[in-house]
Amino acid sequence: MADIIQLLPDHVANQIAAGEVVQRPASVVKELMENAIDAGATTIKLIIKDAGKTLVQVIDDGKGMSVTDARLSFERHATSKIRSADDLFQLHTKGFRGEALASIAAIAHVELKTKQEQEDVGTCIEIEGSNFVAQEVVVTPKGTSIAVKNLFFNIPARRNFLKSNTVELRHVIDEFHRVVLAHPNISFSFFNNGSNIFNLPTSNYRQRIVNIFGAKTNEKLVPVEEDTEVLKISGFVGKPEFAKKTRGEQYFFVNDRFIKSAYLNHAISSAFDGLLKGGTHPSYFLNLTVNPQTIDINIHPTKTEIKFDDEHTLYALLRSAVKHSLGQFNIAPVLDFDR
Ligand code: ADP
Ligand code: MG
Repeated sequence: MADIIQLLPDHVANQIAAGEVVQRPASVVKELMENAIDAGATTIKLIIKDAGKTLVQVIDDGKGMSVTDARLSFERHATSKIRSADDLFQLHTKGFRGEALASIAAIAHVELKTKQEQEDVGTCIEIEGSNFVAQEVVVTPKGTSIAVKNLFFNIPARRNFLKSNTVELRHVIDEFHRVVLAHPNISFSFFNNGSNIFNLPTSNYRQRIVNIFGAKTNEKLVPVEEDTEVLKISGFVGKPEFAKKTRGEQYFFVNDRFIKSAYLNHAISSAFDGLLKGGTHPSYFLNLTVNPQTIDINIHPTKTEIKFDDEHTLYALLRSAVKHSLGQFNIAPVLDFDR
């Protein structure tokens, strides 16, 4: 009997992994911005063209990479962030899978420029569809710039699957919001087709929200604070009278990571019981800080889902913290004519 099993070549494995990590330009924006944050950047610049379809570039002033690391960063499962499985429960970084750059490089043209502070010169690497095409010494500022061009150039089916520039830009902006809301202590700028659409200086959390969503947002925000042995909750909920028909501004972060959780969303919404007009959804900007040992974020490559050790306690604490804040601000139930 002939043997028929073969190991997939790396570039094929990378392309398959890319399918999970990179759905659209917004996924590239997320991965590159998170890497910049993990590198300790204080200023991050995002530049895109054609809603990111032709260019997504992130420039940071973080710690940069050595020549060897720059090269290695494009290998699959190559990461500086964890060393063993135990580290998964002590995570203080956004990344840990070592998959993003390998995946992105498998399906785009990538140019990396990076320099560490103590070095006089940096490294420039070009890679196209997992193939290294150039490596040179360059003069470049401290930090890292990664430009991702022509996303899905070698997978026409995926490229055609992308939506209009308007829709893709919407996704990019959503992703940008999620990242910048989790990091008000970092300054961000965002350029789309040459025009500066966001300029966010370092600020406190309230100012960051207002800088993004406009001055009118300020009066809508009710602070939420809770500090217990299991968790810390901080942030704001929108006053009920500003609730909207669409589920727009609902941001929930766990240890500075944007998380989707229908269950905990319900905890927040239910704290508004009797305060909302029928069919409207409250806005919220809430951060949960928990011991990394009590969560597992390794369940999905994009890391927007999470498993908590004790979801029921979280639910109760979150609900009561929001309820308490709404109560303190003397927010009386509104008459509901729609129901
Ligand atoms: P992960 O973030 O999960 O470690 P990535 O593929 O995103 O995996 O990145 C691989 C490695 O490349 C990182 O662990 C980090 O050491 C390095 N790296 C990536 N982006 C940057 C950056 N902007 N600045 C410094 N180092 C970076
Ligand atoms: Mg990463």
